[in-house]
Amino acid sequence: MGGASVVEQEFAVIGLGRFGASVARTLAGLGHSVLGVDSNAERVQELAGELTHVVQADCTDEHTVRSLGLRNFDTVVVAIGQDLEASILITLMLKELGVKRVVAKAASEIHGKVLERVGADQVVFPEKDMGTKVARALSQGGIMDFLELTPDVSVVELTPGEAVAGRTLKQLDLRARYHVTVIGVRRGKEVLVAPLADVPLRKDDILVAIGKNEHIDRLLREFCGRRR
Ligand code: ADP
Repeated sequence: MGGASVVEQEFAVIGLGRFGASVARTLAGLGHSVLGVDSNAERVQELAGELTHVVQADCTDEHTVRSLGLRNFDTVVVAIGQDLEASILITLMLKELGVKRVVAKAASEIHGKVLERVGADQVVFPEKDMGTKVARALSQGGIMDFLELTPDVSVVELTPGEAVAGRTLKQLDLRARYHVTVIGVRRGKEVLVAPLADVPLRKDDILVAIGKNEHIDRLLREFCGRRR
C-alpha cells in the first residue's frame, strides 16, 4: 500500500450501472479490494479487468447473496436506481445477513426513505446532489466547489473577487459578521492553510470557508454580490 492515509478495506458494489461502476472503479483505484456484482453479463465483462473480483448474479436471490459471502465485507454499496424492488429487497437482505455498513443509492426522496426504513446505514442521492453542486457552481459570484459535512454544514470555495481585494481577514471579519470561518486561501497553485488575519487578500483569491448553509448563503447574497 502506497498512501499512508488509506486503510485498505473490502468493498462490494451491487449494480454496475453508471453510478456503481464509477464508485467501484474509484475504490479500486484507491487501493481497496472491490467485488463488483451485476445481473447483466456485459456490465460484468466491462469491469472484469479493473476490479478485484466480478460476478454475474441476480442479488435478489438470497442463496446468491449468501454464497457470495457478502456479510464479510466492510461496506456493501447497493447501486441500483431503476429497479426499486430489487434495490429495497437487496438492502433489507444485506442488513438481515449482518453486513456492517450498507450504502444505498436512491432515485427519489421516497425511495430514500424506504431504504432508510429497511436499514440502509447511508443513503445517497447522486443526481440530486450533483444538481445542487452544479447550480451552486453556476451561481453568479458564487461557490466553485463545496463539500457537505452534514445537511446543514458545508465547506465551500468562494470567489468574492473585488469584495476582498486589498483587505485582510481581520478587516473583513467574516466570522463575526456572517458566522463563516475562512480555513484556507487558494491563490493560483498555492494554498495558504490557516491564513493569518493580517495578510492582504487579492481579487483572484479563492476563500475556503466552513459554516452553516444558511450563513454561507447570506454571505453569498450580501458579500459576494450575488443577486436573487
Ligand atoms: P445508473 O443510473 O447508475 O446507471 P441503474 O439503476 O440504471 O443505475 O443500473 C443498475 C445496474 O444494476 C444495472 O447494471 C443492472 O443490470 C444492475 N441490477 C439491477 N438489478 C439487479 C439485481 N437484482 N442484481 C444485480 N444487479 C442488478
